[in-house]
Amino acid sequence: MLIVMHHGASLEQIDQVIQAVKAMGLNAEPIPGSLRTAIGVLGNQGYVDDSTLRNLPGVRETIHVSKPYKLVSRDFHPVSTVTEVAGVKIGDGQLPVVMAGPCSIESEEQMLAAAQQVKAAGASILRGGAFKPRTGPHSFQGLGIEGLKDLRQAGDATGLPVVTEVMRIEQLEVVCRYADMLQVGARNMQNFDLLKEVGKTGHPVLLKRGMSATLEEFLAAAEYIYAEGNEKIVLCERGIRTFEKATRNTLDLSVVPLIREMSHLPIIVDPSHATGKRSLVPVMSKAALIAGAHGLMIEVHPDPAKALCDGAQSLTGDGFAELMQELQILQGYLDS
Ligand code: PEP
Ligand code: MN
Repeated sequence: MLIVMHHGASLEQIDQVIQAVKAMGLNAEPIPGSLRTAIGVLGNQGYVDDSTLRNLPGVRETIHVSKPYKLVSRDFHPVSTVTEVAGVKIGDGQLPVVMAGPCSIESEEQMLAAAQQVKAAGASILRGGAFKPRTGPHSFQGLGIEGLKDLRQAGDATGLPVVTEVMRIEQLEVVCRYADMLQVGARNMQNFDLLKEVGKTGHPVLLKRGMSATLEEFLAAAEYIYAEGNEKIVLCERGIRTFEKATRNTLDLSVVPLIREMSHLPIIVDPSHATGKRSLVPVMSKAALIAGAHGLMIEVHPDPAKALCDGAQSLTGDGFAELMQELQILQGYLDS
């Protein structure tokens, strides 16, 4: 439930409402707005009896929200969130942000070469996986901490902030030490313990949609992070599992404008994992920007034929540079 205060409500009145909510065994989260303060009521299992709260001084109205997410909803927080990653802003009113780099960090040389290519082409954030969630146990699992060091070094050498996946709670400390942004992958979108701990770090988070997650489940996962006080979230649509096998996943582009309606959090698109095919990445990147994505995550490898992971969907440095030029032209049309 949301309690909306009158525009002139005093701090004492706000505090009185918070105390009344707490006395009901629930949590209260004040959200100051430019015009008035709202107080989110959290922790209820169902309908909240608001008869006492509604009549407290300073209360304008109570709004019942039955969704499993509130803090990340636009009802609750009408102003769009801009998430900042080491100075790079992602969200409304900013140019789309492109995160690019290899699927996995394979060596210091490969990571640096990829970083130089994506930086030269105009990417703003460097990606690379050190802990890889692979479908089979015999596939390359990532370089772990050594990989994190290579990623950080490549990011520092090129002046790019870095994003990398964290798979387990025990990895959080070291990943926070080396990365500017934590990625929670599709397979971990509903790892609620991990989400809570990621929330507690206060580090910017890239939350990827689970491959069979509904939009409601996706936003509820973001709510876990937000509820720990971490507002620095970027959502990422990366395709969902359907009956279609011609593409790796089915890119659900319609969620982009829908998420923009339903949530204040920024949303980016990963056309690499969504399609699994290099030839489809450029066109779906453009489609994503037209649909309103605040950015893209694209896999780029200096030599995709030799990639240890996801070579078929990785762009070459030249292919990525060409795409970035096309995106710039498209952005000109979108801005005009
Ligand atoms: C990735 O971005 O490296 C990745 C594994 O993506 P996803 O979690 O979307 O499959
Ligand atoms: Mn990949």
